[in-house]
Amino acid sequence: MPDATHTDPWIAATFEEIGVPPPPSGDLAVVDPATETVLARVAAADLAACDAAAATACEAFGALRRLPIPERGQLVRTFGDRVRAAKEPLARLVAREMGKCIAEARGEVQEVVDICDFACGLSRSLAGRVLPSERPGHTMLEAWHPLGPVLCITAFNFPVAVFAWNAAIGWVCGDSFVWKPSLHTPLSAYALAGLAAPVFEEAGVFGAVTVAVAPPTPGTLALVEDDRFPLVSATGSCAMGRVVAPKVAARLGRTILELGGNNAAIIDETADLDLAVRAVVFGAVGTAGQRCTTTRRLYVHASRYDEVLARLRAAYEQVIERIGDPLDEKILVGPLVDGRAVERFETAVATARAQGGSVVVGGRRRPGPGHFVEPTLVAVPGGGIDIMAEETFAPILYVAPVADLDEAIAANNAVEQGLSSALFTRDVGAMGRFLSAEGSDCGIANVNTGTSGAEVGGAFGGEKATGGGREAGSDAWKAYMRRQTCVVNASGTLPLAQGIDWGVAGDPP
Ligand code: NAD
Repeated sequence: MPDATHTDPWIAATFEEIGVPPPPSGDLAVVDPATETVLARVAAADLAACDAAAATACEAFGALRRLPIPERGQLVRTFGDRVRAAKEPLARLVAREMGKCIAEARGEVQEVVDICDFACGLSRSLAGRVLPSERPGHTMLEAWHPLGPVLCITAFNFPVAVFAWNAAIGWVCGDSFVWKPSLHTPLSAYALAGLAAPVFEEAGVFGAVTVAVAPPTPGTLALVEDDRFPLVSATGSCAMGRVVAPKVAARLGRTILELGGNNAAIIDETADLDLAVRAVVFGAVGTAGQRCTTTRRLYVHASRYDEVLARLRAAYEQVIERIGDPLDEKILVGPLVDGRAVERFETAVATARAQGGSVVVGGRRRPGPGHFVEPTLVAVPGGGIDIMAEETFAPILYVAPVADLDEAIAANNAVEQGLSSALFTRDVGAMGRFLSAEGSDCGIANVNTGTSGAEVGGAFGGEKATGGGREAGSDAWKAYMRRQTCVVNASGTLPLAQGIDWGVAGDPP
């Protein structure tokens, strides 16, 4: 039976439909950003709970690393099947708790399923290498071993997918997890972890994931400083990364940092505007501008600036009609996460105006209840304005004219973050420049598609203040394992590397 302390029966019913137990109850209020009502009160993790979570993860690691890798892959596949079966109620929970519209919430849950499929395949192909040895009769090889318990800190805006990117891969690699979700979205975390736990328990692994809803201090920082975690994978703002990274470095631990983005798109003089405008609107307004890959800056060749602005204005005027309850299928724009996010939106719009930007569409908060704001288009003069260097986690798009591609690429690269970027062009030469070593300095560089909406098969992450980490596909799995270089001598003699002759035989006299 659902926990009676849940204040919202909808949440209890949703957990029942997903088929997992409700979260342990406590004092931490989880607030619906669309209505400002309390959805549930869950237990926050104190220091003792954090310590216990780390101990559980250590035990689970001991069991998990003994399983053959393909068997771990099968567990991840079974977990993915459970998520697939619960896709609809899980998506509704994500939409309710975080505020993204239901279509995007379904997409997020699908991403969990996709990464499980990817990880299961990886479990049959994850391989080391055999390398040439300079010594006769010797074989040198690289083996990959499980790393240990991983601390995974996640942001509110992808309450299930980001953990799954880490865990599906990490579990296949043989690692266990303590999951520190955002305090805004513990319900989604408990639901996802609840789907995983029985799958692993049936295979004798208890604690493959333990949720610890810890406040930044003291709980999260105690976990961060705990050397039982050889790896801390942290997703969130650059400010969070600047606190967490030095603490892990001080104990010589490893990090995967997935931090803030301040992503630009470029439209050149040859671009297909039908395609470009649609991509930019989705990139800028999707998830109410609360994606790390959200398009925040748009640089348009001066010859097409007026036309692009007019088309964007028309698109934004339609989108503004579709702000509201994220569970309503007609809605495209849900609320911001909380009241502070709305204040930051208003401050950024006022600052943009003061710096010479003019609001073309939007710019206002909607009356409550709910933390709703209007998707906002700000025309700025050539050269841009200072506020464009900041990541305001809200649907504000700054649009500036540029004289040529060199200016656009320089502007793209002129911020501290380096996550995602996009160029819209029909010019092969422009594409080549944008994707070259002198082009975009971001971890993601797209041509004729927007800055957001990554697929799981590629390695995801960004450069500079975005933190340099990579998650999900390609060879991102290597971060969750330890590499061992092994040499096997089958020669019956002892030739030394670099031809060293050391001259002590050790034979009895
Ligand atoms: P946030 O930094 O406020 O919080 C992220 C997580 O870190 C949460 O779990 C939070 O409780 C924890 N945290 C925050 N400050 C901390 C501290 N001082 N010590 C320890 N833990 C701390 O971010 P948010 O508001 O939840 O998410 C939005 C931010 O995350 C944006 O900057 C966005 O770009 C970024 N983000 C990046 C990626 C990526 O893959 N690069 C993905 C999603 C979100």
